Amino acid sequence: MTEEAKHLPVRDDLKDLHPYGAPQLDVPVQLNTNENPYAPSAALQQAIAGAVAGVAGTLNRYPDRDATDLRKDLADYLGHDLTAASTWAANGSNEIIQQLLQAFGGPGRTALGFEPSYSMHPLISTVTCTQWLAAARDADYGMSTAAEQVKRHQPDVVFITSPNNPTGTSVPLDLIAAVYDAAPGMVVVDEAYAEFRRDGTPSALTLLPGRPRLVVTRTMSKAFAAAGTRLGYLAADPAVIDALLLVRLPYHLSTVTQAVARAALAHKEEPLATVQALRKGRDELVTWLRGNSLTVADSDANFVLFGVFGDRDAVWQGLLDRGVLIRNTGPAGWLRVTVGTPEETAAFKAALTEVLAL
Ligand SMILES: *Cc1c(COP(=O)(O)O)cnc(C)c1O
Repeated sequence: MTEEAKHLPVRDDLKDLHPYGAPQLDVPVQLNTNENPYAPSAALQQAIAGAVAGVAGTLNRYPDRDATDLRKDLADYLGHDLTAASTWAANGSNEIIQQLLQAFGGPGRTALGFEPSYSMHPLISTVTCTQWLAAARDADYGMSTAAEQVKRHQPDVVFITSPNNPTGTSVPLDLIAAVYDAAPGMVVVDEAYAEFRRDGTPSALTLLPGRPRLVVTRTMSKAFAAAGTRLGYLAADPAVIDALLLVRLPYHLSTVTQAVARAALAHKEEPLATVQALRKGRDELVTWLRGNSLTVADSDANFVLFGVFGDRDAVWQGLLDRGVLIRNTGPAGWLRVTVGTPEETAAFKAALTEVLAL
């Protein structure tokens, strides 16, 4: 927090925190926040504009508080016999995570995650007065000791990110089931990158039946090429959603957001076709990096974690000097690059070749 803010009567437990801050720099090649690089087509832009025009005349009224039509569309997209009642939506999956922690975490409670993982899980935990417990991963970023650690710590909320950010690795379902059995509280599987997973990697959605404490979160920010829409969602037992109704703000999801998200879902073939291209680009990028003697974590996501550098800041800056912004995050010595268009990936490779003199 800034010195100026510290002079205000702000909560003591916030004083040493830093706000989420992936740099938003205006550079030609932006491969730092795992967005889908393909902008909506002219046809999809038309559909979105039409959807907004269709609700513009109703904006004097509050939105559908329960976003029932949108939740039905999301359930249909997910499949697995889900319904509007077993699906919930909010302004990005970050808000979903916040609502989950407000309902199931809070003062005197704990949340546990396996690091390195998504930095917002500990930050939102802390901000909701939920004590964060950092559990460990294996050396190859697997989670073979996860159930044991959960049994030992007895957390109220467990986060499992699969595919994980920033490593890209996914977690086998039997391991998630074992964590569920060991956990006394909620188990949240953050599947923000689910659509990018390699063939044969199942989703935790298949584990939902008979597990009322299990939650699977998703987002339209990554595969759906809709980061600007701010739409995250979850699938869970309907009773979980009953609990969230207590903490969500009334009318949290605007009429415009609901309309835009539904228009994007109605045209899902378009973003999902780009997902296929991005998965292929990811696998090619992994092969190229390994071919150049770099270490690369297996990735089921739309980004790749690579290293290991003695001075990763210098590599990051060298790329930025050449107009390529990637993310300086993850374990010491590693960098994370989002898979872009073929042109963007070529620019990244050319810049990295220069910086490392490969
Ligand atoms: C990007 C990301 C999210 C998502 O965010 P939104 O708020 O839906 O944009 C959630 N979890 C993980 C692991 C992510 O990387």
